[in-house]
Amino acid sequence: MHAEIIAIGTELTTGAKLDTNSQWLSQELASIGVPVRYHSTVADDLGANVDVFRIAAARADIVLITGGLGPTLDDLTREALAAVVERKLVLHEPSLEIIRGMFQRRGRVMPERNVAQAMFPEGSEVIANPRGTAPGIWLDVARAGQPTCHIAAMPGVPSEMKGMYIDEVRPRLIALGAGGTVIRQARVNCFGLGESAAEEMLGDVTARNRDPEVGITVHEATITLRIVAEAATADECDAKIADTKRLIRERMGEYVYGEEDEELEAVVARMLVERGLTLATSEGATGGLIASRLTTVVDSEQCFAGGEVLAAGRMDWGRESQRCSPLTPDPSPPPGARGDSVRQARSCRERIPATFCLAVTNVVAVSSSALPEPIRVAFVGLVGDDVELVQEVNLTGDPAIQRSRLAKAGLDLVRRHLLRPASR
Ligand code: ATP
Ligand code: MG
Repeated sequence: MHAEIIAIGTELTTGAKLDTNSQWLSQELASIGVPVRYHSTVADDLGANVDVFRIAAARADIVLITGGLGPTLDDLTREALAAVVERKLVLHEPSLEIIRGMFQRRGRVMPERNVAQAMFPEGSEVIANPRGTAPGIWLDVARAGQPTCHIAAMPGVPSEMKGMYIDEVRPRLIALGAGGTVIRQARVNCFGLGESAAEEMLGDVTARNRDPEVGITVHEATITLRIVAEAATADECDAKIADTKRLIRERMGEYVYGEEDEELEAVVARMLVERGLTLATSEGATGGLIASRLTTVVDSEQCFAGGEVLAAGRMDWGRESQRCSPLTPDPSPPPGARGDSVRQARSCRERIPATFCLAVTNVVAVSSSALPEPIRVAFVGLVGDDVELVQEVNLTGDPAIQRSRLAKAGLDLVRRHLLRPASR
């Protein structure tokens, strides 16, 4: 059995609102082994709704519809469904009583218009909606030469739709024997190398048709390996995922920093807290982004000692600090640009005592005879009693993500240092 998801609403087709219902439903269907072949989005227009429903009922075994169940004139799902199966809309008294009762409990009289929400295509089933006024509709459509198509129409409001799907629609799909297999996903996150380098290290792990399948996506220099496993049971899926995770960690080593939604700042904070260590920050080109990210981590006060932000163009806090103009017409790195990150970190550590200080310099342009044009770089430096690490970060590429990339490079320098035995 395979499915189609239809999202209804002019606010979606005009681009005023993003259709998140289809995304959520697709993931839910995948988790019970129902592949989704089509997503359709349609405006609040009766003719267009009838067309889309008719096409879906012909080409999909399961059709999940969201939106258009409200009481207003532009809510047309009921009417369009009735037209597709060529049946009348009939009043469902128990639903009308429930809707009337909801208004009464709020001390209001039900507007006449809401009667429409208790109208259902003849022969359809009512799906209860304890979260809102609009009940859903379950409709079976017989098809010549094909198995019956099952349609579920749910409200557009995401919270109502999700509740109705979980409580009412999913159990019906499972009872129909939908899918039969289970699909589960997992994510492994890496940092510090490019997409193609990652692909090379992973070798056959990312081969097409591998079981489980592993896909690579990149977001602001974080590489995510998405594992998709399909099996008869959730346990079998989990076992396959665990094997693949092991293989990925073997091949990617230290580049792997976390799983699922885990961010670098959370990993760094956890490692610091576990060891009873603290970190201060001095930021130029990242403008405080590292401190901002660290302070979003729960309990960060146990490891984050505080931070400073350098004005753009300044290279360090010291009395002797020079001004550097990022990207001057004669772009050559100011003397000792590499060392600036260390000086900056040391100077900051005098004001903010901590086990380590992480410094990010401002952007400087570097030119050399080997380069056709100057490149923008920044340095991240980590200092502690017995630590002095510097890394150059190349900032060519999409400027929109450079700050985030640089912040991650800084956090990753701390992480990789903490991975070393007896690091302090
Ligand atoms: P209501 O009874 O509230 O009118 P409805 O079933 O008619 O419910 P809509 O009027 O289509 O639903 O949408 C109600 C709200 O839900 C709107 O704020 C809309 O933007 C949001 N919504 C509708 N469809 C989607 C969707 N596919 N993804 C995300 N939000 C949606
Ligand atoms: Mg509506």
